[in-house]
Amino acid sequence: MAEAATTHFSDAHEELRLHIRRFLEKEVVPHLDEWEETLFPDSIFRRFGELGFLGLRYPQELGGQGGDYFSAVVLSEEMARAHCGGLGMAVAVQTEMATPPVFKFGTDAQKSRFLVPAISGEAIAAIAMTEPDAGSDLAGMKTTARRFGDEYVINGRKIFITNGARCSWCLVVAKTDTEAGHKGFSLFVVPKETPGFHVTRTLKKLGMHSSDTAELLFEDCRVPAEFRLGEEGEGWSDLMWELQGERLIAACGHIAGAQSIFEYAMQYAKDRVAFGRPIANFQVIKHKLVDMGTRVAAVRALVYETADKWNRGEYPVREISQAKLLATQVSVWVADEAIQILGGHGYMREFPVERAWRDARLARIGAGTDEIMKEIIAKTYGM
Ligand SMILES: Cc1cc2nc3c(=O)[nH]c(=O)nc-3n(C[C@H](O)[C@H](O)[C@H](O)COP(=O)(O)OP(=O)(O)OC[C@H]3O[C@@H](n4cnc5c(N)ncnc54)[C@H](O)[C@@H]3O)c2cc1C
Repeated sequence: MAEAATTHFSDAHEELRLHIRRFLEKEVVPHLDEWEETLFPDSIFRRFGELGFLGLRYPQELGGQGGDYFSAVVLSEEMARAHCGGLGMAVAVQTEMATPPVFKFGTDAQKSRFLVPAISGEAIAAIAMTEPDAGSDLAGMKTTARRFGDEYVINGRKIFITNGARCSWCLVVAKTDTEAGHKGFSLFVVPKETPGFHVTRTLKKLGMHSSDTAELLFEDCRVPAEFRLGEEGEGWSDLMWELQGERLIAACGHIAGAQSIFEYAMQYAKDRVAFGRPIANFQVIKHKLVDMGTRVAAVRALVYETADKWNRGEYPVREISQAKLLATQVSVWVADEAIQILGGHGYMREFPVERAWRDARLARIGAGTDEIMKEIIAKTYGM
C-alpha cells in the first residue's frame, strides 16, 4: 500500500508483502481478465500452496509458515491491491473460513487428512452454512445429520457456496438434534467424492466472476463419525467463532481494496484534464477524494486495532462486527465514488473501478449482512 505501514507490520511482514506482490503481478494479474470469463484454474491453489501462502499462520509441523494473524492480513491486502476479488475470496474461504475450524477443533487425524493438503494446495476447501431458506437466520437451517452406528447420514441443501463446485472437501453445518436449539448443531468435513454429495448447479452473479458459487445437495450422504469436527452439539458455538475470523478478514481485504481504489481515483483525477485543468483541481472532486481517503484511514485504524486484538487471542465480537460493517460499506461507497470520478471510463471494463464496485457489493451481504452486524452490535450494547 502506498501509505506507510503501521506498527502492526514487522520487517518480515513487509518482506512477505513484497514476495506476494511480485508473485501476483507475475502470475495472477496478467490472467485476471481471462479468469473473469472462465473462472480461475484449480491449479492456482497448488501454486499458492507451493509458495506457502495457504498456511501463512499455521504451524510448520503442518506445512504452514508459523506466522501471526498479520501475515494473513498482508495476504488479504495484497489480493485486494491486485484487484483479484474472486480469487481473493476463494483463497480467503480456504485459509480463513474452512480450515481454521479444522485447526482449532480437529483431531490430529483430521488435521493430517484435511488440513495438511489444504495448506499445500492439493486440496481445495469450502464451507457450507447457508441454505435456500436460512441465511441470516442460520439457526433455521434444515440440513440434518443423523447418527447410525459409527456413521452420520447428512440430508439437506446448501446455497451460495464459494469453492463449492471445485472443492475437495466441504465443512458442512448440520443439525444433529432438531429439538436441542443451539445445542443441536455439529460440523462435518465431507469429502467431495462421498456418495450423495451433489453439486446441483453453479450460480451466475453480479461480481466475483472468477470464483465459483455453487448450490449443493446432500442426499443420504454417509460420513464416518470420525469426520465430525469437535463435539456433537457444539457446532453452533464453533461456527460463531469461525464467523468472527471470516468477518475480520473480510474487513481487512475490503478496506485495503478501498485504499487501492481511492489511490487509483486520485491519480486519475490528477491526470484527467477537463475545462483546461486537472479535474482534481475542482473543489468538488478534491473534497470527494479527501472524504474517501479520510474514511478509509479511519476504518483502517479500527480494522488494524481489531486485528491486533484477535491476534492476541481476544474475542472482540463488537469490534469485529463494527469493522466488518464499516469496512464493507466504505469499500462499496469508495468504488461508487471512484466510478463517478472516472466518469464514462469508470463504467468500462478496462478500468479497475467497475470490477471493484461489483466485487465489493457482495461484502455487505456475505459473512453476515449490514443489518445482522447491527443486530450483533446492538446486543453487545445490551439492546
Ligand atoms: C457470492 C456469495 C458467496 C457466498 N459464499 C458463501 C459460502 O461460501 N458459504 C456459505 O455458507 N454462505 C455463503 N454465502 C451466503 C451469505 O453468507 C448469505 O447470502 C448471507 O448470510 C445472507 O443470507 P441470505 O442471502 O439468505 O439473506 P436473508 O437472510 O434472506 O436476508 C435478506 C435481507 O433481510 C435482512 N434481514 C434478515 N434478518 C434480519 C433481521 N433480523 N433484522 C434486519 N434485517 C434482517 C438481511 O439483512 C437482508 O437485507 C455467499 C453469498 C454470496 C452472495
